[in-house]
Amino acid sequence: MQDDILAYNRSFVERGEYERYRTDKFPDKKLAIVSCMDTRLSELLIASLGLKNGDAKIIKVAGAEVASPFGSVMRSIIIAVCELGVEDVMVVAHTNCGAQHMNGAEMVEHMKRLGVSEARIDFARHCGVDFDRWLAGFGDTEEAVRKSVDTIAHHPVMPPHVRIGGYIMDSETGELNRVC
Ligand SMILES: [Zn+2]
Repeated sequence: MQDDILAYNRSFVERGEYERYRTDKFPDKKLAIVSCMDTRLSELLIASLGLKNGDAKIIKVAGAEVASPFGSVMRSIIIAVCELGVEDVMVVAHTNCGAQHMNGAEMVEHMKRLGVSEARIDFARHCGVDFDRWLAGFGDTEEAVRKSVDTIAHHPVMPPHVRIGGYIMDSETGELNRVC
């Protein structure tokens, strides 16, 4: 797959197809979106929100969760606000998210099936990784959105002028509903 992609990329550049995507690093709509890596949203998310290349900083992560106040998602949001002029942050989860019903114990079984040895799993545990917590599903989508919005809104170094909203998108129609 990677070789195929590389070959396509060569011709994309040669044909100058990048011309219509030209923009700079500053988001034109002063907007950042935290959403899920779900492939149903790859194009649907920006199309259904009327966005184009250059409009918004889009941070994609399993479950659209801001899991840690000082993790990489929150770091990206702070960079988007403080360095790149973002004034609105939208957390956009979606219906039937794959991260909703995840289970740490099941995931460990998948790891073993995929060739990760028991010794490596034990090593990670001894280093302090709690798989049940780290790979847990979020259960209720609305509650997860509220929690992420709360983490952003009450973050100690989040500038006060930033507007933060939580939403759930229909994975099929793209319909957006406000949670908070
Ligand atoms: Zn998802």
